Amino acid sequence: MVSPMTTSPGRAVLRDLPSIDRLLRAPGAGELVDAFGRAPATDALRAVLDETRAALLGRAAGGDIPPDFELVSAARERLAAALAPTLRPVINATGVIIHTNLGRAPLSAAALAAAQQAAEGYATLEYDLDEGRRGSRAVHAEHLLTRLTGAEAALVVNNNAAAVLLMLAALCRDQEVIISRGQLVEIGGGFRIPDVLAQSGARLVEVGTTNRTHRRDYADAITADTAAILAVHHSNYKIIGFAGQPDLADLAATAHEQGLLLLFDQGSGALRDVGVYGLEPEPTVLDGIKAGCDVVAFSGDKLLGGPQAGILIGRAALIERLRRHPLARAVRADKLALAALAATLTHYLTDDPAAIPVWRMIARPLDDIAAEAEAWAARLRSAGLDAATTPGESFVGGGSLPGQSLPTRVVAVTPHDVGPDELAARLRAAPTPVIARIRDGRLLLDPRTVLPGQADVLLRVLQRATKGAEQ
Ligand SMILES: *Cc1c(COP(=O)(O)O)cnc(C)c1O
Repeated sequence: MVSPMTTSPGRAVLRDLPSIDRLLRAPGAGELVDAFGRAPATDALRAVLDETRAALLGRAAGGDIPPDFELVSAARERLAAALAPTLRPVINATGVIIHTNLGRAPLSAAALAAAQQAAEGYATLEYDLDEGRRGSRAVHAEHLLTRLTGAEAALVVNNNAAAVLLMLAALCRDQEVIISRGQLVEIGGGFRIPDVLAQSGARLVEVGTTNRTHRRDYADAITADTAAILAVHHSNYKIIGFAGQPDLADLAATAHEQGLLLLFDQGSGALRDVGVYGLEPEPTVLDGIKAGCDVVAFSGDKLLGGPQAGILIGRAALIERLRRHPLARAVRADKLALAALAATLTHYLTDDPAAIPVWRMIARPLDDIAAEAEAWAARLRSAGLDAATTPGESFVGGGSLPGQSLPTRVVAVTPHDVGPDELAARLRAAPTPVIARIRDGRLLLDPRTVLPGQADVLLRVLQRATKGAEQ
């Protein structure tokens, strides 16, 4: 037996719901189709109609069907929200220069222009203009790298994690790799040296202790199955106190005496000594080559200041083995990265590191930062905010130089009408989001990492956010 349909007041109106065809002729529908395309616009209108129908059915007292133009505008909002970019530019006021969550190194103007040129048309990525035939993508950044570092050869891949994996897979597969217990590090984002070694097919042989490893620990662990000693710069933490590790030259001697390789995951890609900026020196890429490392791996977008890339430099015969390994094809660098990397390396070759944003920020004089902080604070105070400058610390970040900071001057804003967390949330919700630090109930803004030209936007966002006005 079929039970009679219960009729709610809502059901009667359903008949009056517009059809998709009618909505497509409604005011605003033409623009909707132009902006998003016919099929997505139709799908969104159908979804809005479904929602409206469900709402009418769910409401015991029925309800009115919104006018057609409102349904069209609801569809527009749906599509705009669904298609809004999620990778958005932000203003970094945290004072962390190489902020991995915020995209690491901003590119220099020349690197940006090179990437744009490579991207927007065709390019000689693998084309030899002299010969009129296929060329090699290896030529673009790699001769600059050898010139800069004195290494015999170089290879650029997708990132340093890939570089280390490729190095171990191509040179140590099914063999043993000796590494100090003090260097079995996790870099972040899931990059753990023991896991990468396992993935490469090499066997990990741990030596020494967490705090101290001696040259003889390595020597004693060498067997007929050993392929290499791996040195890893523990980028993001520091062992202080009773700690020690043989230097790279000693490790190179230990390895080479036995016909083994010394591989070095340098990490940061520092081509210059950070010591001159009052930071504790860390081994540079050049130090690795000079010490006799056979292959050195490092990132393109940390202290090197370029695009995401993994760079391998070292002995020509070894780099050639890496280049020919099947994994090399899987992790190769793209034309945008190669173009931006070559342009970034050129800044080093022409002795113009100030062209590289990361180095400009590291080298920026405290006086200069303090003057900018003062100017911001004055502008904020004249807009009625409680703002003052105070000494603070900037960090190099990117898992480099742990525990070390650069003295800076920050603007501290004490919010009165909202809590600091709410203020920070409003800054993040702005059309151009601002990322800041909070300490002791105050919002801290570090001019060091705010790029030229961003200050006006930052100050406007802040004024609006403290007033609690609509963004
Ligand atoms: C950062 C880092 C990595 C990973 O490099 P990515 O470019 O992020 O892939 C590997 N090893 C060391 C020592 C690092 O510092």
